[in-house]
Amino acid sequence: MNIIIMGPPGVGKGTQSHRIIEHHNVVHISTGDILRMAIRSGTDLGKKVKSVMDSGDLVSDDLMMELIKDRLNQEDAKKGWLLDGFPRTPKQAEAFVAMLKELNSKVDAVLVMRAPAEEIVRRLAGRITCRSCNEVMNLIGLGGNAPKYCPFCGEHEDNNRHKPALYQRADDAEETVRHRLEVFRKKTLPAAWILEEAYQLHEIDGIGRPADVAQRIESVL
Ligand SMILES: [Zn+2]
Repeated sequence: MNIIIMGPPGVGKGTQSHRIIEHHNVVHISTGDILRMAIRSGTDLGKKVKSVMDSGDLVSDDLMMELIKDRLNQEDAKKGWLLDGFPRTPKQAEAFVAMLKELNSKVDAVLVMRAPAEEIVRRLAGRITCRSCNEVMNLIGLGGNAPKYCPFCGEHEDNNRHKPALYQRADDAEETVRHRLEVFRKKTLPAAWILEEAYQLHEIDGIGRPADVAQRIESVL
């Protein structure tokens, strides 16, 4: 089975992706992993990626396409894959559909996870991270107040800098979250509608317990 999973930050895509790859025995293909793997491989393609990234530029659509094609052609991807984080724009979606056609392959399901912006802001704005062990927890589950110490490693504060052990990452600040949601709505959702012209697309309600969301996903898979 070949699956694409899409969704805004904070919708629970990571949790569901892990479950899908275990449950359906498919390989997880994320753009971040592909870039890291390419660089590590030391191939011509990998060297090209390294020089682009070293210069601080973004990897072009064409290069990303080449990398994904390369990855899909590897032996372990033959049993099926879950593509995560790609395509992100309508142009990438069009190119991807054309590429799969060329490879004589297809996508069996496009999963688009959704949740209202207010719910996502509430979830992410409540996230706090431990400076010491990097464990992520949520204020919602902690009764709304940040504890004075980390419940996982016991760290009280950064002794050198006198900062509290638990802090909010810049990525999770409300303004940043709203901006990322806007980017998702304007660029990635239109990419999903392009995919829908070629493949079966399912919108998945991301609200509720992860087990409930998993059940919704299984009912369409
Ligand atoms: Zn900790």
